[in-house]
Amino acid sequence: MNIHEYQAKALLKEFGVPVSNGRAVLEKGQAEAAAKELGGPLWVVKSQIHAGGRGKGKFKEAAAGEKGGVRLAKSIEEVKQFVDQMLGNTLVTIQTGPTGKQVNRLYIEDGSDIEKEFYLSMLVDRSTSRIAFVVSTEGGMDIEEVAHKTPEKIITFSVDPATGIMSHHGRRVAQALNLTGDLAKQAEKLTAQLYTAFVAKDMAMLEINPLIITKQGQLKCLDAKVSFDGNAIYRHPDVAALRDETEEDAKEIEASKYDLNYIALDGTIGCMVNGAGLAMATMDIIKLYGEFPANFLDVGGGATKEKVTAAFKIITADPNVKGILVNIFGGIMKCDIIAEGVIAAVKDVGLQVPLVVRLEGTNVELGKKIIRDSGLNVIPADDLDDAAQKIVKAVKEAR
Ligand code: GDP
Ligand code: MG
Repeated sequence: MNIHEYQAKALLKEFGVPVSNGRAVLEKGQAEAAAKELGGPLWVVKSQIHAGGRGKGKFKEAAAGEKGGVRLAKSIEEVKQFVDQMLGNTLVTIQTGPTGKQVNRLYIEDGSDIEKEFYLSMLVDRSTSRIAFVVSTEGGMDIEEVAHKTPEKIITFSVDPATGIMSHHGRRVAQALNLTGDLAKQAEKLTAQLYTAFVAKDMAMLEINPLIITKQGQLKCLDAKVSFDGNAIYRHPDVAALRDETEEDAKEIEASKYDLNYIALDGTIGCMVNGAGLAMATMDIIKLYGEFPANFLDVGGGATKEKVTAAFKIITADPNVKGILVNIFGGIMKCDIIAEGVIAAVKDVGLQVPLVVRLEGTNVELGKKIIRDSGLNVIPADDLDDAAQKIVKAVKEAR
């Protein structure tokens, strides 16, 4: 689960992490009071969307100006003008894709005088089962490009959970950033604070880009991107409350209500599969035969008819879906349950696209019979290969 920058900063502040003062603005009328409270003389007006690259982004609407999703204002009038231009308009960044994202929230911050920009992130390194730090002197810009062109400028190390964060980790961050004296001390303190926050809140990723030194010699987090381990959200009601559903895919929100493992993708073939491994294999084989999956969906082992019906409805509601492949290997999940769910859903929402069903395993004959007797126009398949070829062919023919 992702949160907005302003929420991430408020959360990090609880752990003592240095951030600028700021005010979230959800309506244009709040801009002036927020700017006055902060005082100036420099303000930053920042679009709050769940995507990076805002500074270099562009608004779709001409009225929003050409100045990007993060703007420096030198007067209260200018703050108001930027808020007017940005709020409600659509920001396109390298991470949003061409459709962009509507800016429904802004964050107004006290502007900082930047001396230097660094990069610092933390993530769970699955290969070592540890939390890793990624640090670079090359902050502010595209870190992917730094990684590609000058990988030696990126320093990574991980923390042994048995010892937790220790002062030598902080010294390592300071060293990686070429900091000495008081700034090195600030870096050591910050390293410990970030690690503590990361563990306490079950974060999956934390990215500070840029981490800056101000002209006054203070280390500060100027941007903050945080995502949380979805499986641990139940332990953190305060974090769960920060969820902004308008930032998420409506289909994924609907799927989460039914506890379905669903990820929206941008292909043409909707997939309903049981088991994550089989779902991945199904996506691969669709690609092998020349089409792309519209989603990942693992309906799980003990899915009920209601769950299957919900899953089918989510798939058919996606306008990109030009064909559906149901691929079930019935173990715990029984083929007849899947068949009943599919039939119920089709009767409810109709079937506008070709549907291929491959069933195997527990109660397979019963499942096939239910589908045959339904009178619906379902294309049966014998195995995964056959199923993938049939759905790809049907989708291509329908074009
Ligand atoms: P991103 O583009 O989505 O990563 O948004 P950031 O929060 O990183 O802001 C983009 C850029 O705006 C930063 O890299 C800074 O160069 C600049 N910026 C952000 N806040 C300030 C500020 O307080 N003062 C100054 N001078 N520049 C800022
Ligand atoms: Mg940034």
